[in-house]
Amino acid sequence: ERDLVSPEADLDEHAIEGALRPRTLDEFVGQDRVREQLSLVLRSAQQRGRAPDHILMSGGPGLGKTTLAMIIAAELGAPLRITSGPAIERSGDLAAVLSTLREGEVLFLDEIHRMARPAEEMLYVAMEDFRVDVVVGKGPGATAIPLDIAPFTLVGATTRAGMLPAPLRDRFGFVAHMDFYRPEELEVILRRSARLLGVHLADDAAAEIARRSRGTPRIANRLLRRVRDYAEVRGDGRLTLDSARAALNLYEVDDEGLDRLDRAVLDALLRRFRGGPVGLSTLAVSVGEEPETVEVVAEPFLVRSGFVARTPRGRVATPQAWTHMGLTPPPDAAF
Ligand code: ADP
Repeated sequence: ERDLVSPEADLDEHAIEGALRPRTLDEFVGQDRVREQLSLVLRSAQQRGRAPDHILMSGGPGLGKTTLAMIIAAELGAPLRITSGPAIERSGDLAAVLSTLREGEVLFLDEIHRMARPAEEMLYVAMEDFRVDVVVGKGPGATAIPLDIAPFTLVGATTRAGMLPAPLRDRFGFVAHMDFYRPEELEVILRRSARLLGVHLADDAAAEIARRSRGTPRIANRLLRRVRDYAEVRGDGRLTLDSARAALNLYEVDDEGLDRLDRAVLDALLRRFRGGPVGLSTLAVSVGEEPETVEVVAEPFLVRSGFVARTPRGRVATPQAWTHMGLTPPPDAAF
């Protein structure tokens, strides 16, 4: 179970999300290169009878990092311990976790870039030498007592690989870059989820939801549940193309899969900043969000879909963004 469950997440949704997680590498859809690389890393570790190298996964929220961590542990037949960067406020928090690991255990450290700095240093040593230095006492009399810990495999996850200090990044033997999923892959995921939820999902409805899920399995599964709600209340319970379209419109997911935050960012960029260039934090303030949220959640998809371009002078809207939002660019627009 997770040490940290985000407070806003409703428990039922969490339970469903857990139930929809693939359990094996073979069940895990898409990310073919990562899957193949990972399978090799795991096989070779098993052949040598050793714990595999530490693994870092980078990629946006909902792309399957936690799922992969669980699969890694399952494939190794090893227990899994889950914690996260924000839960580690002091190095003592990390020492407590590390010193109780059992041999071969997989430690999943989500949002690793948000761990406290002193803990980072402790983690380097633990990763390399399987040792922690526990500081006893205070002031000039303080001494560090080295403590051996069981060999373990760290699986770190981050939405911002660029935020990791190089010495930490360098201690991972393998870095898996998770990318957005193709609509065909999301369709496979949706069909599997529909089967698990026991609902009838028409092919064209699956395609429509997949196309509007921002390349993200978590969003695809969430939209599937909203379409199911709609079909159950307003229809006969079957998920048809019409119910999919109506539900997605109701939940403010537009034709291109842009949600409210995406549209708010685009709207501010176009109207308030005349298409840019504008800095990310200025843009974030004008939509009332943290810069990290805009950078991690909204921007990658807007860039990927060709609505926003990153330039050295800031973020710029593309002609496609003006068209999509039904606006006319001013004559001096950046593009
Ligand atoms: P992250 O840790 O990257 O935020 P998760 O691993 O929690 O993402 O995945 C979110 C949800 O999406 C999970 O419920 C899981 O069922 C689903 N999911 C993610 N990746 C895949 C995949 N490759 N195949 C099938 N389902 C997936």
